[in-house]
Amino acid sequence: MKRRRDVKKIKKAKCPECRSILTRVSDSRPCGKYMYRRRRVCDACKYRWTTYEIPSETWKLFQRLKKLENIVKELNKAIESNEGLNES
Ligand SMILES: [Zn+2]
Repeated sequence: MKRRRDVKKIKKAKCPECRSILTRVSDSRPCGKYMYRRRRVCDACKYRWTTYEIPSETWKLFQRLKKLENIVKELNKAIESNEGLNES
């Protein structure tokens, strides 16, 4: 299975395989200080994938702080250490 490592704002997720919006979150847990790691499932084609998401309020705050570059580094670090721990 392909690994997806995109960090994005939380929004209605489309299936990366069939573009269906019939997707749901099967698991959600914090990853680092700012993100949530979510396991998503597509009900149309049963594809499963993982997203790392930032709540839009947090994202707005980042933009105001203009420290995005450093924050993105920190987010990537959090993803690295998370993936080192477990992948279910
Ligand atoms: Zn699908």
